[in-house]
Amino acid sequence: MFPPLIDTHCHIDVRQFDQDRDQLMVRAAEGGVRAMLTLGTDLLSSGRSLELADAHDSVYAAVGLHPNDAIDDGPVDWWPYQEMADHSRVICWGEIGLDNHWDTVSPDRQQRVFRDQLAIARDMQLPIAVHIRKAHPESLAILSEPPFKDVTGILHCWSGDLDEAKKGIDLGYLIGIGGPVTYNKSTLPQIVAELPWDVLVVETDSPYLAPVPRRGKRNEPALVRHTFDRLVEIKGDLDPDIAAERLWNNFRRIFTRFDVEYPSAARA
Ligand SMILES: [Zn+2]
Repeated sequence: MFPPLIDTHCHIDVRQFDQDRDQLMVRAAEGGVRAMLTLGTDLLSSGRSLELADAHDSVYAAVGLHPNDAIDDGPVDWWPYQEMADHSRVICWGEIGLDNHWDTVSPDRQQRVFRDQLAIARDMQLPIAVHIRKAHPESLAILSEPPFKDVTGILHCWSGDLDEAKKGIDLGYLIGIGGPVTYNKSTLPQIVAELPWDVLVVETDSPYLAPVPRRGKRNEPALVRHTFDRLVEIKGDLDPDIAAERLWNNFRRIFTRFDVEYPSAARA
């Protein structure tokens, strides 16, 4: 029996899963995944995420506009997102953030769209899922701005250094650990070893970034246990059952609309 886990970041609405989405749910359940947070990256995928959350007990949704998808110029109409975010199956605003890896959206526009959504998340009292790629100092600077000091959430698929992680933690954020922690040359294990259990969560970012032993293949929520196993191995100080319960409660502490107790009966 696998310990109960939450895949705290995935994109199961994408077409890569159109052929076998129902089987994906079955495999997730068999792999111990009791809940998953699927995130929108634009208006359409936010809508699809909410539909999936409505249709499946174990699926929860986030709505938001990803920095790489903020391609049009001019102001964004946030109202349709806000309407969706009123739904009880939406427990998070995201995926939002800054990405300097691709240059399709200017840094100025990315920052404007990021601040817009931080203000909405704050006003709606929703935690956020933050995407940061090659933009750690500027992202942390924005998250530190006084208007956003009450906003928290997950810094997903962490790729920054230890000092930057500590800054995020000081701001109240959880650190999302993804498949790269299982990769041979990753520096993530050294960082994870220095972080306390109570700031960590695991994720897949499906369909991307599959953990070893499925690296390079399509990722899916059931595979989050490989990342979890590696995390338990790196830290080496907790039994898997206890570790799973800690991670579950970390998520619950921040995502207040997620009102599901750790299914401890599964431990027997
Ligand atoms: Zn994502």
